[in-house]
Amino acid sequence: MPLSIAIIGSGPAGFYTADALMRACPECEINFIERLPSPYGLIRGGVAPDHQTTKKVAKKYERTALMEHVDYYGNVELNRDVSLQEFSELYDAVVLAVGAPNDKKMTIPGSDKYGVVGSAAFVGWYNGHPDFRDLDPGLNIDTAAVIGNGNVAMDVARVLLRSPEGLAKSDVPDHVAARISASPIKDVYMYGRRGPVEAKFTNVELREIKNLNHTVPMVRAEQLPDDLGAAFGNLDSRDRRLRERNLKSLREYAAFTGEEKPKRLHFEFYASPVEILGGERVEGLRLEKTRVVDGRAEGTGETFDLACGLVVAAIGYRSDPIEGAPYDEARGIIPNKEGRVSEGLYAVGWIKRGPSGVISSNRPDGEIVAGFIHDDFPNGGGNKPGRAGLEKLLKERDVRWVSFADWQKLEAMELENAEGPAPRKKFVTIEEMLNALDG
Ligand code: NAP
Repeated sequence: MPLSIAIIGSGPAGFYTADALMRACPECEINFIERLPSPYGLIRGGVAPDHQTTKKVAKKYERTALMEHVDYYGNVELNRDVSLQEFSELYDAVVLAVGAPNDKKMTIPGSDKYGVVGSAAFVGWYNGHPDFRDLDPGLNIDTAAVIGNGNVAMDVARVLLRSPEGLAKSDVPDHVAARISASPIKDVYMYGRRGPVEAKFTNVELREIKNLNHTVPMVRAEQLPDDLGAAFGNLDSRDRRLRERNLKSLREYAAFTGEEKPKRLHFEFYASPVEILGGERVEGLRLEKTRVVDGRAEGTGETFDLACGLVVAAIGYRSDPIEGAPYDEARGIIPNKEGRVSEGLYAVGWIKRGPSGVISSNRPDGEIVAGFIHDDFPNGGGNKPGRAGLEKLLKERDVRWVSFADWQKLEAMELENAEGPAPRKKFVTIEEMLNALDG
C-alpha cells in the first residue's frame, strides 16, 4: 500500500512538504486539506497585493498540486468537518501546516476602541481574505499609526499610502481600493520600540518607500546612530550588511523635508505604545520614549501623544491551539522535535517554529519532515483508507469540498474578471466562490 499523507494547510510550508515528499517517496498519496476553497495561504492572503512578483511562487506550488498522487480538498476545515483524531485514523501521516493566522494582541489600555486593528486582520482585509471581508478599519482620517518595525508594518504603511494608480496594478479588491483611495490620510507614523539598527524590516522594502508616487519617507536625523555600534559586532556579515544598508537608506531619507510629495511615512524609533486615547473611537496614541539596553527596549518614563484616527498593531502573529494536538502556550506553537510531534503527526512552518522568516524559510521544514516520514514508514503504508476514506466521510457529512480542478476554474474566472492593469479580481467570500462554481 502506498503511504497516505494528509497535509493540513496549503500555504508555503504545506507545499514545500508535498514537494519534498514527492521526491522522497514518489508513490506516496498526498492530500491537501484547506479551510478555504482557495489554496496558497499567505501567498494569496498575506504577501502584499502590490508585491505580485513574490506571489508568482504560487505557479510552482500549482505544479506540485497537479502531480499524479496529489489531491486537494478545499473548503474542508480541521476540527469543524473532520477532527484531528479522524485524520490520524484515515492517514498514515498527518502534517500540520496551518500557520499562525491570528494577531499577537496589543494589550495596552484602549486597545478595544474602534480604529485599533491588528495586522493579520488588516492584511487579510486588503488581500481579500474571506475572514476579513467586512472589516471596517475606519479610514476617514488624516493620520494613522503603525506599531512595529517588521516587514508587515512596512507592508501595511505602504498599502495605506499607495496611490489609486498603484492600487490599480495590484489585486486589492475593489471595495478596499475604493476605501483607501477615498481616505484623506496624509501621514502614517511607524513606531519601533527599539532603534533603527534593531529594525526588522529589510532593505528592499525600506527603499521601495521613496519610489511611491505620492509619499515621501521622513526620518529624524537625531535618531540615527553614526554606526552599528559594538552590540552588532557578533552578527554574521550578511546581517550586518543588511543593517548597514538600512542605516544608509534612513540617512538618505533624513534629508527629505516632507514637502516633496503630498503624503508622508514617518519612521519613528525608540517609542513604545502605552495607551490608546479617545472615546469610543481612537483619537490618539500615547507612547513612552525608550532606550535600548542590552538589546532590549527599556521605558524612560517620558511619554508623548500622537493625534491619530487609526492604529494598526503589526507586532507579530500567533497560532491557536489545535484540538487534539499539544500546544505550547508561551511560544504559541505545537511542541515538536524538528517537526516531529508524536507518532504519525508532524508540524511545519509557523505552527512549528513561530511567525518568522521569509517564504523560502519553509522549504527546510518540508525537507526535514518529508525525511522523517520516509524513515518512519520503511515498509510503506499501513492499511489506512486515505483519500477514499476521507471522501466517504465528507459525503456522509454533506461537506461540499473544492477540488484543485474547481480552484483552477475559480482562478480562471479571477484572471478573466481582472480590470485594467490588475492581475486578477479576487473572489472575497467563500459563498461567492461556491456560487461561481455552481454556475
Ligand atoms: P517581525 O518581523 O517579528 O516584526 C514584529 C515587530 O513588532 C518588531 O519590530 C517588534 O519589535 C515589534 N513588536 C512586537 N511586540 C511589540 C510590542 N508589544 N510593542 C511594540 N512593538 C512590538 O514580524 P512581522 O512584521 O509580523 O513579520 C513576520 C515575518 O514575516 C517576518 O519574518 C517577516 O520578515 C516576514 N515578512 C516578510 C516580508 C517580505 O519579505 N517582504 C513581508 C511580510 C512579512 P522588537 O524587534 O523590539 O521585538
